[in-house]
Amino acid sequence: MAAMTDPTHSALLARHRAVMPDWLATYYREPLEITHGEGRRVWDAEGREYLDFFGGILTTMTAHALPEVTKAVSEQAGRILHSSTLYLSRTAVELAERIAALSGIPDARVFFTTSGTEANDTALLLATTFRRSNQIVALRNSYHGRSFTSIGITGNSSWSPTSLSPLQTLYVHGGIRSRGPFAHLTDAQFVAACVEDLRDVLGQANGTVAALIAEPVQGVGGFTSPPDGLLAAFREVLAERGILWITDEVQTGWGRTGDHFWGWQAHAQAGPPDILTFAKGIGNGLSMGGVVARAEVMNCLDANSLSTFGGSPVTTAGALANLTYLVDHDLQGNARRVGGLLLARLQSIAAASPVVREVRGRGLMIGVELVEPGTDEPSPAIATAVLEAAREGGLLIGKGGRAGNVLRIAPPLTLTVAEAERGAAVLQSALSEAHAATT
Ligand code: PLP
Repeated sequence: MAAMTDPTHSALLARHRAVMPDWLATYYREPLEITHGEGRRVWDAEGREYLDFFGGILTTMTAHALPEVTKAVSEQAGRILHSSTLYLSRTAVELAERIAALSGIPDARVFFTTSGTEANDTALLLATTFRRSNQIVALRNSYHGRSFTSIGITGNSSWSPTSLSPLQTLYVHGGIRSRGPFAHLTDAQFVAACVEDLRDVLGQANGTVAALIAEPVQGVGGFTSPPDGLLAAFREVLAERGILWITDEVQTGWGRTGDHFWGWQAHAQAGPPDILTFAKGIGNGLSMGGVVARAEVMNCLDANSLSTFGGSPVTTAGALANLTYLVDHDLQGNARRVGGLLLARLQSIAAASPVVREVRGRGLMIGVELVEPGTDEPSPAIATAVLEAAREGGLLIGKGGRAGNVLRIAPPLTLTVAEAERGAAVLQSALSEAHAATT
């Protein structure tokens, strides 16, 4: 594909650079301008078509331009865009009822926010208020958002440019599985080692600890999952001390992991979490997030804790239509079936590629970890080269991991088998091209 030559696009890029931060629109060498989408496909300003294997940023949960969501949003927009979170909202109540019932948390209450960051900030506010402590346990390699509070607890310094956190954070093992001091352990040994680490960290804490927060599958961290049951084992230790468990389901919710509706359910033996946060996919691109907690925890805040735009009529109407479509069409089942096929296909491609260290994942959340050819050395350069080559081939994918060397594949949950095969074929060529360029 030729470099962007369209003068309108070049002018837009210049205008962008003149008024917006340098660190935005840096994903591709030549920034993309997506103008429209349908299903799993999007088009750029020059009319080029791409298969979207990143679903926005896991935000397009069902499909681009899903007619049911578009209709719900435009009908609501025609009535009223925003009234106030001070008043009752029929769509907000209906959506909260659906989410509370799905959450698995008994006596659940739902609070809507406008993003995952705000959801996690609220969860941390609830936990620290309820427990009267500002100490939090987080996992190494975790990511929970970009406010002072959520970025402050993030377990990776490259995503956390400031250390001025209002919270005191203690980090435990349990995030990255395939690298680090516990990499050689069996599943059972890994769980035991992480639990011992948690006990050790809690033993050194300064008095009461409020909560442990964890992504069931680390998202930005490179789609890494602990063995099933780890968080349940953690839960037992937490329960001995009354410490709350917050599950960050911003990436893992709504059936994306295939076998479960929520990521925490892979660790369900010890019962549901105390607090669950969500965002991204629920709005299918609308700015929607939220927190679920049992009433006792949620109601420890007072009536001044509002969110001006959280749970607005338009976002809740769109999210309700999106969630209804997801459940009625069993997209969790589709994520399990098509995700399983895609994972197997990518693992067989990887077996013949000296730049792939590991292909891992659950459902439609698949990570491809890249290394310098034939070594164990993380290669962000090869990841960037694969990203560019895939784009040339008409495929959009994500990138992440502690060293920026993991390709992240998380398409809308309506992905078909034919699309999975087409995307895998483009990725196979992109891997070969990137490898050839290094030799
Ligand atoms: N939590 C997780 C697990 C995330 O991956 C993200 C964003 O990538 C966030 C929280 C923050 O969400 P947002 O970008 O909507 O604020």
